[in-house]
Amino acid sequence: MTRVEITEQSTPDEVVEVVRAWVADAVPGTWREAAAQGRDALRRVRSREDYEKWYPAFGDSGLVVPTWRYEHGGLGVSADVARVIDRELRPLNLRRLNPLGLHNAAAALFAHGTEEQRRRFLPPMVRNDEKWCQLFSEPGAGSDLASLATKAVRSGDEWIVTGQKVWTTWAHVSDFAILLARTDPDQPKHKGMTYFLLDLHQPGVDVRPLRQITGDSEFNEVFLDGARIPDAHRVGEAGDGWRVSASTLSSERQMVSSSGSGGAGRLGGSGADSLIATARRTGRWDDPLVRRDVMRLWAQEQLAEWTNDRIRATVAAGGSPGAASSIGKVHQATLNQRIQDLTVELIGADALAWERTDDPDHLPREVRGMLRSRANTTEGGTSDINKNILGERVLRLPREPDPYKGVPWKDIPRS
Ligand SMILES: Cc1cc2nc3c(=O)[nH]c(=O)nc-3n(C[C@H](O)[C@H](O)[C@H](O)COP(=O)(O)OP(=O)(O)OC[C@H]3O[C@@H](n4cnc5c(N)ncnc54)[C@H](O)[C@@H]3O)c2cc1C
Repeated sequence: MTRVEITEQSTPDEVVEVVRAWVADAVPGTWREAAAQGRDALRRVRSREDYEKWYPAFGDSGLVVPTWRYEHGGLGVSADVARVIDRELRPLNLRRLNPLGLHNAAAALFAHGTEEQRRRFLPPMVRNDEKWCQLFSEPGAGSDLASLATKAVRSGDEWIVTGQKVWTTWAHVSDFAILLARTDPDQPKHKGMTYFLLDLHQPGVDVRPLRQITGDSEFNEVFLDGARIPDAHRVGEAGDGWRVSASTLSSERQMVSSSGSGGAGRLGGSGADSLIATARRTGRWDDPLVRRDVMRLWAQEQLAEWTNDRIRATVAAGGSPGAASSIGKVHQATLNQRIQDLTVELIGADALAWERTDDPDHLPREVRGMLRSRANTTEGGTSDINKNILGERVLRLPREPDPYKGVPWKDIPRS
């Protein structure tokens, strides 16, 4: 463990000094030099494989999750100190790996897990030694997640799980999954679910990749047939899974809308900045209509950043992002789609035709970005569902009618 020496008592100048010393020592010189020339240069010298290989050093430093306690893999500092660290690291674009662990699983462990579970699972998650995915959605349960049918039956000190999940991002490269399963079909649908941590490397877990519009296979179908989970890997009480999953889902919305503690820059850079660079590169920056469109998106991006700052400040002050994370989610999804669409418009015919090879990477980066952004309004809860949340919890509009409220899950008709 080579944790950097930053504490809550460190002054901003001391923090900057320690981070700079760590960067000079731990970050390869070629990355540092390329970072000074911008993201494209960095991308050219740093492959994903290089980054993954180097990443445990980042994890060990505590700088990946500075606000987490020391024994959980962090530095135990406040959000203010974390912001100084983040500003200093931002030009290097040190993306957090394992986001479904760091955001989704960790949120549930912090809110509802035991200290033993946190100490067991968080440090290897931070180092990306154990990768995580999320087994929530099913073919018949996406927006209406509470209707899920995958069942877990108690057998001694274990639970035995049977069912099918879908859309499971990165399951094919993951070691563990957070899993929501039905444990009491006699209860109404929101009450009979339990939240588990599932080891994916075992018989009874069959992961099948799905091909998406970009040609990549990011997500999977996962078939569970007698998979086993020790009771010690249950998070929260049996039957309380819906409440536990709320912390995961809220944190996921924050992550997808970039209001996680890293902020937009850390998680991939400003879309408007890269639009401006593309407009310059393609000779379109002098076109007043292009400038108008870019500046509109830039202004939208500022609004998103400020909204995210507000959510971060609420969380740092001990509050919950609650329904506010839905604002960021809805806004960011549409904004990113508009940014990607304009990017593709700027590169013109280059977005329509290119040399084809067998390598799925033959897609121009801008085209891949535009195609991938179609999912933004679906992943992490659809925009429609997030608008429902805002309508009900922020605007206090009447709740959506539910004819099966209070009815045992097993008596609700299913297709
Ligand atoms: C790229 C990607 C990655 C994902 N990764 C994961 C993952 O790792 N783990 C995981 O568990 N899930 C994952 N998901 C699943 C995602 O959470 C679901 O796709 C999402 O919740 C929608 O569910 P559904 O696809 O079943 O659509 P449905 O729920 O069938 O919805 C279909 C349409 O109906 C609309 N709709 C449904 N109900 C309502 C309502 N009450 N009011 C208004 N409109 C409504 C929806 O907005 C949508 O337009 C991922 C999805 C995507 C696209």
